[in-house]
Amino acid sequence: MKFELPKLEYEYDSLEPFIDEATMKLHHDKHHQTYTDKFNEALEKHPELKFKDAEEFLINLNDVPEDIRIVVRNHGGGYVNHSFFWEILKKNVEISGKIKIAIDKKFGSFDNFKKEFSTNALGVFGSGWAWLVLNEKKELEIIKTQNQDSPLTIGKIPLLVIDVWEHAYYLKYQNRRAEYVENFFNVINWGHIEKNFQMKGGKNENKI
Ligand code: MN
Repeated sequence: MKFELPKLEYEYDSLEPFIDEATMKLHHDKHHQTYTDKFNEALEKHPELKFKDAEEFLINLNDVPEDIRIVVRNHGGGYVNHSFFWEILKKNVEISGKIKIAIDKKFGSFDNFKKEFSTNALGVFGSGWAWLVLNEKKELEIIKTQNQDSPLTIGKIPLLVIDVWEHAYYLKYQNRRAEYVENFFNVINWGHIEKNFQMKGGKNENKI
């Protein structure tokens, strides 16, 4: 069994003008394909692992055979992170539901959340990702990861993510990461994040 590049559920130009068609094509068809291929290539050395879910490798990274652990961390991470990233993108969706309540409670307001998320996205030095996750207590938390490291490896559940590798924005925004991050807020699929939040047991009540 091999992992396959997931198909996009929308057109390459669906996120224009915030994320451009050329970037989506390159990012999905080339970059994500490469992570997929190299992940599969590494797993060929260990046929005993072939029935595992991609996420399982990252959740229990220390159980991955040592000779392929770094490749799985990087390319398995790249495979899973990008598969997740495509799903949370959709243009012009208003935030609503339980996730909205939880964000308001945790961060005080949506604007505060946006500020903190953006600061994290801009604060990734080099290549990486900024995430909204559920932590061990099933509460909201914003974190960043380097390279293709996954929150799953440190016991957190991803809800929302922004890819801040240059390949995610360089064609349109060149070095202007801040502008990309600002525009990213127009393409967050809050409906999907609400679904994740409820499915994974996120809490929106303050604990005393
Ligand atoms: Mn990427």
